[in-house]
Amino acid sequence: RIAYVNGRYVPHADAAVHVEDRGFQFADGVYEVCEVRQGLIVDLTRHLDRLDRSLRELRMKAPMARGSLTLVIREVLRRNHVRNGIFYLQVTRGAARRDHFFPAAETVPTLVVTAKNTDPAVVTKKYANGIKVITVPENRWDRVDIKSVGLLPNVLAKQQARDAGAQDAIYVDRNGVVMEGASSNVWIVASDGTLVTRPAEHGILKGITRTTILDVATRLGLKVAEREFKMDELLGAREVFFSSATGSCVPIVEVDGRTIANGHPGTTSAAIRDAFFDIAEKTAI
Ligand code: PMP
Repeated sequence: RIAYVNGRYVPHADAAVHVEDRGFQFADGVYEVCEVRQGLIVDLTRHLDRLDRSLRELRMKAPMARGSLTLVIREVLRRNHVRNGIFYLQVTRGAARRDHFFPAAETVPTLVVTAKNTDPAVVTKKYANGIKVITVPENRWDRVDIKSVGLLPNVLAKQQARDAGAQDAIYVDRNGVVMEGASSNVWIVASDGTLVTRPAEHGILKGITRTTILDVATRLGLKVAEREFKMDELLGAREVFFSSATGSCVPIVEVDGRTIANGHPGTTSAAIRDAFFDIAEKTAI
């Protein structure tokens, strides 16, 4: 495997950043993960738009112009022979003597791009029967709209899920309002058949897959609402599922040990999953 680190394509095993990198010292960095299908990058423009936004919100410099960044991404995918898989991109504020203040203007941002192959058939099989999740209290900072590499709460939530025999976790606020998954957005098909996901203006990451699923749902003629919903509504829903770039649409069949509907993945999530890659913007690598 080959990784890109600050201007160089290097063997993955040798890829490294400086010990004083602010990503390492302070989680002072942002990232994106994109899916690649049949040699096509899914929703690249939306991911790069969100990257720009994350950088802006943290007053960080872009490592290079978008055109050059796209070439780097394509080159990493090409060198790793990725036809189906993902790439991971991280930008940090760069290496500087450890000090909380932003470093002097001349610090160069660190850019890392890695890629790996995945087998879509294996992923589909993994989620074929749906997954079990637990709920965890929302304990993150209030800027989770920024896709920062500071993911310690998410790490702890996921591990807590695994320790409980589940695969993932959903954040719920103190009023019972469903926020999002530890690495995904949450959807329900409400008892009246409406597809519901919470607004993404604040309190959650505005998932790119979430945005594209809203397009998919419209094309499929589904009734859609962006509104908050609470745990009691989720537990009584016809379907519950996650969306994320790496899983597209993942059915959830059990929450905190309670079965959702009949305990099997629903037809709406399956229809969305089927339509998703047809409707998503795809850019050839
Ligand atoms: N919320 C969180 C906390 C996430 O980490 C992710 C995945 N990066 C998402 C939502 C889904 O976003 P996307 O559809 O862009 O992958």
